[in-house]
Amino acid sequence: MVEQTLSPWNRQRFIRVADGEKVAALAVLASAADEPDYGHDINLFSDNPGEVGALYGFGPQPFGDARFQYSSQAPFHMGFFHESAVVYAAARFLQRSWPDWRAYQYLGLARLAFASGHPYWGYRFLGWGVHHVQDLTQPYHAKPLPGVELPSLLLLEGKALAGFADDKKASIERVATRHMEIEKYQSTWLRRVLRAGQAHPMLAAYGDVAEDKQYPPYSVDYLREVVSAESVEDSAAFDEAIGQWLETAPVTSDFSSGNQLQRETFEHPALNQQLFKLLGHFGAHSRIYVRTGLAP
Ligand SMILES: [Zn+2]
Repeated sequence: MVEQTLSPWNRQRFIRVADGEKVAALAVLASAADEPDYGHDINLFSDNPGEVGALYGFGPQPFGDARFQYSSQAPFHMGFFHESAVVYAAARFLQRSWPDWRAYQYLGLARLAFASGHPYWGYRFLGWGVHHVQDLTQPYHAKPLPGVELPSLLLLEGKALAGFADDKKASIERVATRHMEIEKYQSTWLRRVLRAGQAHPMLAAYGDVAEDKQYPPYSVDYLREVVSAESVEDSAAFDEAIGQWLETAPVTSDFSSGNQLQRETFEHPALNQQLFKLLGHFGAHSRIYVRTGLAP
């Protein structure tokens, strides 16, 4: 387990299950979908602490924010598959990521488990895999600097190479702040909605099956070519809506001391429109992946 006290997502409650107790398949799937963030993708690289990193063959850690203990899981939970050739040439490390590999691996394990009479493990592996699909529906997991177009990106790089790195640093920090703030906003709101226990547009967005048919069938390229491409397409508008919202609301330091979020009324139509659209994608891709894993 990662030191959960350091994690901004530290809101989980664990429920003991007795031996032989029956649990719903959906509960196994849904709880497993959170599990890849609990530490099993941490320290797998050759330059990470511990001895196992050297055995896996992933090489040195390509990227990740060293301020966080869980940073080494980033290359398994993020993937930048739609950058220009110039960007890849300047920053080759961006191509070294494995969220699609994880989704593929767990889908195979789930199918093996179902086919060999282990439905519990089928749902659990499927939950692990869908986590990586869901992560890539979040634009900040699919685009390193949303809202920064290629010419500005090259200018930032050029200035940084010439010794003026302040602008580049500011862009990276701006993106990290927006990534964190929007997840706080959404998770706080979701918890409030779930506690209220009533129909809500956010829940409707997750459960809207109308769009599912518009997507191609699941394939090994699906995470890169469909999920991630869609996320990248929405990234600039999402980033801009978050920027405008943050101008009206001060940034909070962490999830628990969020006085601002306690008073938050979540009445930000432009931001919410972007958010609900993305949650619709989250729901659709989750169902498509799970359906594929359950198909005979
Ligand atoms: Zn994740």
